[in-house]
Amino acid sequence: MPPERATILASLRDYIEQLHEEGLDGLPDVNLPSAALAEAQPSTPEVAAASAGRIPARMANSSDEKKLTVKRDDNAQQPQSLLATPANMAGELFYRYPGLEKITDLDMLRQFIGDCTRCKLAPGRTKLVFGVGNPNAELMFVGEAPGADEDLQGEPFVGRAGQLLTDIIERGMGMSRNDVYICNVIKCRPPQNRNPEPDEVSTCEPFLFRQIDLVRPKVIVGLGTFAVQALLKVKTPISKLRGNWHEMRGIKLMPTFHPAYLLRNPADKRLVWADIQEVMKFLGRPIPPQRSRR
Ligand code: URA
Repeated sequence: MPPERATILASLRDYIEQLHEEGLDGLPDVNLPSAALAEAQPSTPEVAAASAGRIPARMANSSDEKKLTVKRDDNAQQPQSLLATPANMAGELFYRYPGLEKITDLDMLRQFIGDCTRCKLAPGRTKLVFGVGNPNAELMFVGEAPGADEDLQGEPFVGRAGQLLTDIIERGMGMSRNDVYICNVIKCRPPQNRNPEPDEVSTCEPFLFRQIDLVRPKVIVGLGTFAVQALLKVKTPISKLRGNWHEMRGIKLMPTFHPAYLLRNPADKRLVWADIQEVMKFLGRPIPPQRSRR
C-alpha cells in the first residue's frame, strides 16, 4: 500500500475511534428498508426495556418499580429495571441464569461461567478473560472487552492500554495493581476488536453484575464510552459523563476516558488525572506528589 494511503487510513481509523469514544456508534443507513431497521432494534426484552427505561413484565415488581429511580443523564430521572436492590438483583440474575444469585465468591463465579459457549464470541476466543485483582478491593476498574493481548494471556488490561492503566494505578495513585480489581463488560474478545454487540452484552452482563456484587467495591471507575454506557444504560457521550459521580448497583461510579483513547490523545490525560483525584478523595487516599506520576 502506498505510504500516503497508509497514513490516511491510520488517521481515519483514529478519527473514527475518537468519534466512538465520544459516543457515536454508527451512521444511519438511509437505504435500509424499515424491516431491516426494525431488526436492528435491541435484541432482548431486557435491552429494549432498559433503553426505554421500562421494566420488562417478567421482572416487574410493581412496588419496586415505583421506588426505582436512577439518574440516567444530567436531565432525566427514569425508572430502571437493572438497578440494584437486593430483591431486584436476585430476580434479574436468577431470571437469566438460575443459580447465579447463589454464587458467593469469585472462584465459584468463574466456575459457573465455565468454558462458556453462551454467545457467538466463544469460537473466536483463545482465553476467556474473567477479571483479576483483590476480591475485596475498594476500587474496581471496568473496561470494554479483551483485546488481542488479553485474549492470549487470559488477563484484562495487559497490552499497551493496560500498561497505561497500570501506570495510572501504580504511579498515579500510588497503589498496586493487586490492590484493585480489574475486569471488562464482556469476557471474550470480539473479532478484530470490533464493538461488542447488544446480544453479547446482554449474555455476559449478569456475570459482570455478579462480579460487582461480590467484590462490592466502594468505587467503580468506568473506562471509556462503551463500558460506561453499558454500566449506566445510557447513550450519553463519555465526554459529558466523565468527571461526575454516578451510581450503579448502589455503588459510586466515576466514568473516565479509556486508556486506549489516552494513547491517541495524550493531552486528555490531565482530565483522567482530575477524575482519578476525585476517586482518591472519595476513598480518603493520599494523592502522590506529581514527581512520582511521570
Ligand atoms: N481494552 C479493554 O477495554 N479491556 C481490556 O482488557 C483491554 C483493552
